[in-house]
Amino acid sequence: MMRIDLHTHSAVSDGTESPAEVMRQAARAGLDVVALCDHDSTAGWEEARAEATSLGLTWVPGIEVSARFHGTSVHLLSYWHNPAHPEVEAMVARTRDARVHRAQAIVDLLAQDFPVTWADVVEQAGGAVTVGRPHIADALVAQGVVEERSAAFTEILRPGSAYYVPHYAPEVVDAVTTMRAAGGVTVIAHPYAGRAGAELPDRAFTRAVRAGLAGVEVDHRDHTHEQRGRLRGLADRHGLIATGSSDYHGAGKPNELGENLTSVEAFTSLQEAR
Ligand code: AMP
Ligand code: ZN
Ligand code: FE
Ligand code: FE
Repeated sequence: MMRIDLHTHSAVSDGTESPAEVMRQAARAGLDVVALCDHDSTAGWEEARAEATSLGLTWVPGIEVSARFHGTSVHLLSYWHNPAHPEVEAMVARTRDARVHRAQAIVDLLAQDFPVTWADVVEQAGGAVTVGRPHIADALVAQGVVEERSAAFTEILRPGSAYYVPHYAPEVVDAVTTMRAAGGVTVIAHPYAGRAGAELPDRAFTRAVRAGLAGVEVDHRDHTHEQRGRLRGLADRHGLIATGSSDYHGAGKPNELGENLTSVEAFTSLQEAR
């Protein structure tokens, strides 16, 4: 029985552990295969690869690309792509840059009502290459505004809140096309985990499949049993590989490494899709 977890985050984005520490935790959790999928960055690859190799883990290079479908946020996992491909570099660099300006805009709004500054967020982000709302949440925790990271998301930082500001992200079809051109195998992450039960519509999958989408993340803690059943049906209809993963963020989320897994068959199919 192989334990395969294809979606984890390090402090390169909004996880709380270094890439090497995520790999050590993966070994401790009894994983055999682990992918590092930081948001819009592959800066953790070398460190993770070195540590995973020395631990005897099979390491998979990945990324979670921020994308959109008609204005709604979509997360696209890509594995094994060439991170130096110019279009990939340009796409994720643009998103990272937009994320900084967006975070500053959120802090400007927050500062009208809460004792939080941009310097606080920079401090919380530490060495992160990709800034996200979790770093703003951490700043709110540090200032005593909320108890913990997730509490900041229930009201203050949720889409629709007076403090929420969106950021640029490519259309999901363009993101699939770009990652595919760079040799990536793409999987739509947690498509039914949208706020207030929002689900990525079928037509988004139809278009993404036409662009070369390979799989869909079915087993994820933010999907109910019923949603997983419907997603398996959707995967069958579209010929997509069904994956499962933890979406581990270290101490930043309750998600535990290996809490959802990808089957050997699905992992083999992903490798064959390269
Ligand atoms: P952003 O990328 O800036 O839009 O922020 C989204 C990130 O926040 C996601 O990657 C999640 O991992 C994280 N996030 C969303 N909801 C929560 C929550 N309730 N608790 C902790 N982290 C969360
Ligand atoms: Zn995240
Ligand atoms: Fe995600
Ligand atoms: Fe994620």
